[in-house]
Amino acid sequence: MDTLHIYNTLSGKKEPFEPINPPFVGLYVCGPTVYSSVHLGNCRTFISFDIVNRYLRYLDYKVRYVRNITDAGHLENDADEGEDKISKKARLESLDPMQIVQTYSLDFHDKMAIFNTLSPDIEPTATGHIVEQIEIIQNIIAKGYAYEINGSVYFDVIKYAEVENYGALSGRKIDELISGTRDLDSQDEKRNSLDFALWKKASPLHIMRWKSPWGIGFPGWHLECSVMSTKYLGESFDIHGGGMDLKFPHHECEIAQNKAAHGKHAVKYWLHGNMLTFEGKKMSKSLGNSILPDELFTGEHPLLTKGFHPMVVRFFMLQAHYRSTLDFSNEALEASEKGFFRLMTAIKLIDSLPVSDITEVDIENHSKLFHRAMNDDFNSPILIGHLFDLVKVINSISDGRVKTNQETIDKMKALINDFVIDVLGLKPVDEDGNQSVLNGLMNLIVEMRKRARLSKDWDTSDAIRDQLNELKIIVKDGKDGATWEIK
Ligand code: AMP
Ligand code: ZN
Repeated sequence: MDTLHIYNTLSGKKEPFEPINPPFVGLYVCGPTVYSSVHLGNCRTFISFDIVNRYLRYLDYKVRYVRNITDAGHLENDADEGEDKISKKARLESLDPMQIVQTYSLDFHDKMAIFNTLSPDIEPTATGHIVEQIEIIQNIIAKGYAYEINGSVYFDVIKYAEVENYGALSGRKIDELISGTRDLDSQDEKRNSLDFALWKKASPLHIMRWKSPWGIGFPGWHLECSVMSTKYLGESFDIHGGGMDLKFPHHECEIAQNKAAHGKHAVKYWLHGNMLTFEGKKMSKSLGNSILPDELFTGEHPLLTKGFHPMVVRFFMLQAHYRSTLDFSNEALEASEKGFFRLMTAIKLIDSLPVSDITEVDIENHSKLFHRAMNDDFNSPILIGHLFDLVKVINSISDGRVKTNQETIDKMKALINDFVIDVLGLKPVDEDGNQSVLNGLMNLIVEMRKRARLSKDWDTSDAIRDQLNELKIIVKDGKDGATWEIK
């Protein structure tokens, strides 16, 4: 595909990407609920959307990336029942909820940086937007799609479904949803068990509480995302993303809230990332099969035979398309590790390739294939397949089986830089795990020494060589230029 096409969950089709207000693109992704350390499954979703963000930027769109932090209102059963996940953790550890929020927000940022994901442009918190949430609830009540009862406010799903298609995103039918829900018990205050809370009355024990026109309470989880996305991206914006598991009820409820409040659908393209599984089951904290990034880096987990570099883990994730499930295993990671270092080794070779007057490499074709893969709904595994075709070419040039000129080598370097470093966000790493900063610095120093020699500045070139010698780095001058090694 010559232009970007993305799969819209709402239509169930790949659609040409046409932003509402080009060159600007509004991108909202549901962030973590910060009550525990992010596991690898969570990381997969954020890495998937990092690729979306990076590729849009690569295409020169002016992206405003908003990813929230859920620091209140997410209850244990992901709906209207149970304790607030953060309050519960605070209660169990005798800490203030905001200590829990701070601890796990820092942990999340730390992991996102280790995986080399770009930070969002705006990272709003639910507790920082209580005023806006109250306002939108008042608006939805005024439009007749919500009702207040005993200090809580619920969205009236049945009323909404009379005029709108509740379930359009997740493919659920309202009649089946109604027949599939339990009968309300006598203590239930909702009109229908499908109704969901926009605002919940806080019991005396509930520590995260705010004043509202309906009494002391706290906001509903679904509402937070409606409010934070439209506040920073407008009542209509381009892309909303999150994991598949959020399609229902979370995103379905977001759609209903926005439509009820603003009279229009907020989101043009809905994108959903698939799950990281382990032995075929979704990796999740509640199933007890989650693996933490640190366990993977150190190898301190019964499932692992060794630790893996964060860039290897990132590469492993990118070898699957974001809409496919990806099963975690030690063997799969080992295979990715081999592939990753094969790619890195080839990239390192580019600087020392023999240069010819002619070229037998059609670099434009490689470039076309790279773009085509990413234009086809961010297909990173296909892109990686094409990268390995280029790896073969690089190795053949290095062996002298294929000839190429400097212009092609320069284009190759630029292409690798664009797609490996910028789009896939892979940082070069040596097989021993060291970042290749050393390589970069050494190439720079060797180049400076070469220039000094060319301008017959022997004092500088000798001083560079002697000081490197003191650091036990030996520079050797050969007919193809200088090389270096550590003694
Ligand atoms: P949470 O903190 O539970 O709200 O989840 C944060 C994000 O991680 C959401 O977008 C979820 O869809 C996503 N997520 C949770 N488990 C997995 C998994 N096993 N694989 C991929 N994404 C996941
Ligand atoms: Zn959300």
